[in-house]
Order: sequence, then structure tokens, then C-alpha cells
Amino acid sequence: MRARRLAAVAVPLSLALSACALEAPAASADASGHADVARAADQASGGDSAQVGGALRIDLGLRDIDPQAGATAPVAFALPASARSAAVTATLETGDAYLAVEAWQHVGGPILIAPSWLATATAPLLCTEGCMFRQAARPRQQTALAPNTAEPFAVAGGHVVRIHAFAATPAGGWAPAGGTIRLRVDAALGPVPAKGVLAINLCLTGALGIRAAIAARHSRIAAAVADLRAIMAPAGLDVSIAFHDVTASPFVVHDRGDGEVSALFAAGAALPLAVNVFLVEKLTWQGGGKVKPIMGLSGGIPGPVREVGGPQAGVVVSLELKPGEDDRLGVAIAHEVGHYLGLFHTEEPPEGGAAPLLDPIADTPTGATDNLMYWSPAAHSRKLTADQATVLRASAWVAAPP
Ligand SMILES: [Zn+2]
Repeated sequence: MRARRLAAVAVPLSLALSACALEAPAASADASGHADVARAADQASGGDSAQVGGALRIDLGLRDIDPQAGATAPVAFALPASARSAAVTATLETGDAYLAVEAWQHVGGPILIAPSWLATATAPLLCTEGCMFRQAARPRQQTALAPNTAEPFAVAGGHVVRIHAFAATPAGGWAPAGGTIRLRVDAALGPVPAKGVLAINLCLTGALGIRAAIAARHSRIAAAVADLRAIMAPAGLDVSIAFHDVTASPFVVHDRGDGEVSALFAAGAALPLAVNVFLVEKLTWQGGGKVKPIMGLSGGIPGPVREVGGPQAGVVVSLELKPGEDDRLGVAIAHEVGHYLGLFHTEEPPEGGAAPLLDPIADTPTGATDNLMYWSPAAHSRKLTADQATVLRASAWVAAPP
């Protein structure tokens, strides 16, 4: 594996929150005690598994989080030889906390996530050091993906993970939290397909009066869909679009607790299995005494795999268009879907004079505002590199062409 580019930075956390072109609250590290996860390596994987298409789901059941440590006990699972990736998804069943993987050991292989990451500057929202594969925390539901780069990684065999939970303190920091999570692993099987189909539900909240019955003929929506398909086609992805009406507010506030975002994503629970993209009239970031409109937000990097309705199962994109502004709707949808399938920003905005944090992808250029995953995408930000395309096609969301 090629060395990943890392930069010592002053915590650019907009990416940790998967939101685009916004400032996010600063975090403070709060490391908690950690046991050696390898002790659990010989414990049997107790999950029920089911294979659907090119993906295997292992349900690891309910797990309690110790509120003092803010962590589960080690949980073991095993992946078959055909697995090309593993997405570990924790979903809070009780309590209210942010979730991240505290430790991830490939038994007989490398440490994918070292618990010492919780003492790094970007913790607990973002793991850039101590993670072989970068992960971002999310409220109530979080997915960590290995690998999330284009380099092949032998993921088959035994694994042990511990999940960390944390919550905001009145002083503005973070502290360990308790609760109960449901834990699962989604493994994509077989080699990365050269071409694939990505199914997307465009979820219409009633924003701007646009409903499913008219969406395909709505000029702005039709142009955005054409843009989305044109951006993804060179990456080998054929985008399949279905329009659905959902009952949800078209005005959404993204804040530290993110209750409105989770409520929006929950409105997609009854839809057919596909990446849910919610179009709203206005999406606003509120935090740190600031209020500002934002373009879009993903339920994670990546978001939960092969699920609809979960607290982070979807992306949201704003239809707001200021006078004289280029319409970036198709770019915005493609950008957020890029996050949802596992792509980080090629680079984050520089903060405090430090070098910007670069993505873990080997072939992405710096300073390239024409890349789809530039932190502040413009109408011309449409390019995906070969490695970014590989990450997209490697997603368990992508199906083989018919
Ligand atoms: Zn973004």
C-alpha cells in the first residue's frame, strides 16, 4: 500500500461532520480507557449472516456501551475469502450519543484502528492518525469502511472491533457516553466491478412544490439528474433514479445534535433499497453562535450501507439558489453521494495557516477545484480520478450491470 498523505493540521472538522462548505464546531479530545481488543480475537463470531447479491450482512446484535469507558466490549466477526471490503455500522438503540469505532484489529493482520487515535488532535470526531482507514464519527449511527482507498486490502478472516460513544459536554467538549447499539458488518464480495449500477431514490419533501409525479419533467431536476449521470458515467457507474414523495419538513437545520437530519432520513424508511437523496428547500448549519446555509450533508463517509430509514441513512441537498448563482444541484447531489460511498474531500480548507488536510486517495491532485470532491465544489467541479472511481464502484451499494 502506498503511503497515505497526512498533514499536521488544526482540526478542520467540516469533513468530520460530512457537511460541505461549512464551518463546524471545534472538538476537544477526550480519550478514555482502552483494553486490548486482541484478547477477544479467539472469541467466536456470534452473528447471523445473510448474503444478498454481491454483499454479505453479518448481524452482530445488540451491544451495551459502558458509560464510564464510553465503549463496548470487544466484538469479533469473520469475513469470507471473497470479501473485498467491510463496513462496520453501529446504530444507537437507546441513549443519544456520537459513535465511532474505537479499535479495529484484523486478527493476524494489521491494526486498522488503534485506540490511541482518541488522544489525537482531531478526535473524537475524525480519525486521521492511528487509522489505517480514515473514519468520521456521526450522531446515533456511524459506519467505518475498510478499505476506503483504491489499494487492494486483504480483509478476509477474523476481526475484532470496539465501538466508542461520546456526547457533548456543557463546556463545549466531549465526554464518554453510554447506551445500547445494534452492530452489523456489510461485506462487499468479489473483485471491484469494472462497471456497476448505483440506485438512487430522489426523495421529494415538497420543497418548491416539486413532487414525484412531476419531478422527471421539472427542468431543474431533469438537468440535475442528467448532470449526476454524466459525472458518474466516466467512473463506470450507471445511475438509476427513482422519484419518491416523502413526508418530511423541507426546511432542515443541521446542528451538533442533528435531530432534524435524522428525522429527515427516517422519512425514507419505507422506500425501496437505494441511496436516499433528500431534496429540501433550505439546509442550514447552526452552531457556535453562527447560522449559515449549506449546500449538502451526507449521513457519513461512508454512510450506512444498504439501509434506508436509519438515523444517518441518506444525504440531503438544498435546492436553495441565490440570484445570479450557478446551479450546482447535479454537482451537489453527486458530491454528497460521493461522500456517502466513502470519498473524503480531496482537501479541506486551510485553517490557522496550516497545510490543508488531504484525502487518503493516492491519485487526487491538490488544488484541483475541478474535482467533484473539492471541499467547496463549484459548477465545474465534476472530475473523479481513477482511484476515486474505484472507491465508488467498490461500494456494496453498487450492483453488477444487468
Ligand atoms: Zn463535501
